[in-house]
Amino acid sequence: MFNCTTVNDLLSGELVQKLSISYGTPLYVYFETIIRERARVVTGIFNGINIFPTFACKANNNPNLLRILKEEGFGTDIVTLGEYYASRLADIPDEKIVWNGNGKSLKEMALLSKVRYVNVDSIEELERWKDVAFKVGDIPELFLRINPNVNPNTHPYISTGLKKNKFGIPIEILESALKKAKESNLELVGFHIHIGSQITDVAPFYEALSQAVELSRKYGFRKINIGGGWGINYKDKELDLSDYSKTIVPLLEGFEEVVLEIGRYIIGPAGILILKVEYVKRTDAKTFIVVDGGMNVLIRPAMYGAFHGVRVLSAEQNEKVEVDVVGPLCESGDVLATHCMLEIPREGSYIVIENAGAYGYAMASNYNSTLKPAEVLMTENNEPKLIRRRETYDDLFRTII
Ligand SMILES: *Cc1c(COP(=O)(O)O)cnc(C)c1O
Repeated sequence: MFNCTTVNDLLSGELVQKLSISYGTPLYVYFETIIRERARVVTGIFNGINIFPTFACKANNNPNLLRILKEEGFGTDIVTLGEYYASRLADIPDEKIVWNGNGKSLKEMALLSKVRYVNVDSIEELERWKDVAFKVGDIPELFLRINPNVNPNTHPYISTGLKKNKFGIPIEILESALKKAKESNLELVGFHIHIGSQITDVAPFYEALSQAVELSRKYGFRKINIGGGWGINYKDKELDLSDYSKTIVPLLEGFEEVVLEIGRYIIGPAGILILKVEYVKRTDAKTFIVVDGGMNVLIRPAMYGAFHGVRVLSAEQNEKVEVDVVGPLCESGDVLATHCMLEIPREGSYIVIENAGAYGYAMASNYNSTLKPAEVLMTENNEPKLIRRRETYDDLFRTII
């Protein structure tokens, strides 16, 4: 039922070659067909439920991509003013924006007081909203983010719904939060949960959501925000959407509105990163494929030990050997793949890093004074379109005075 088009269906060696020559490397490439298809799969499983789908633009903030998602009926989930401006560049109206975050500043609160919904992370934040409401009058409808203390079985850095994580209001103090809101004349419309990212089991979603649903009934809330976190297939496992749909969707029946905040699931598999092979370095201990971008362009392997599939396009020899794929930066942690079995690529040829559309460019840096890469969109007609130019050295030092 959910056999989506994959990059493999759309990407040939010639195309990689052509794009690399036209736009240079490192290069991010996204496929419009895949983005639209996945957006439809996401909304499609909520048959009969009134959903308000948003795209978590921290996963990828390119306004050209946000605009595609807008056409598919998505708003955005933002965390910062910067993400608000990205949404504005994509003409996403305020009433399609949901605001998340555990460190909202007073300045942001004053500027973002027209968005549709806010997920409140703490009792302390409620106190601030009281002050802001007093000053600016109208404030957005508020959800309370609850911390359901559920283990999502994902990387510790991207688990968010455990007691030890910084997010949400523990259920034991929920009563005080509700009391605080009442005393402060703040209108709450529902509960929000988001227990982490890259979750491939349905069970933790069920465990968290059933608590949130029960609490919603108890307190008479007709809206609910179920967050995102759907896991994609980096290696061998992804969230089983038919299982999710069978298990989760029935819990949502009867709600007046269900807010979704999905990032990775939509954009991750729709993007790749193309890199050029500079050297193949052989030592007694190891073989290193040295490419022209590393943790500066894709930090997930260095930061989370994340796995990304690597495709060699032009091999020196067909036999696979154990290699590390590393970048050119001055850190031993500057890796894209370790202990992987690959054919040895030819020097000067290109490799493709798969599933790089989410938390790729968005987490890129200028470390070692490198330039952030360009981004290209392959349109539905298979035409390449530059949607972000490569940085220049002028860009790099623009803020120096
Ligand atoms: C990051 C985040 C999301 C999106 O997570 P994905 O794993 O990319 O779907 C949704 N909601 C909140 C509150 C988040 O922090």
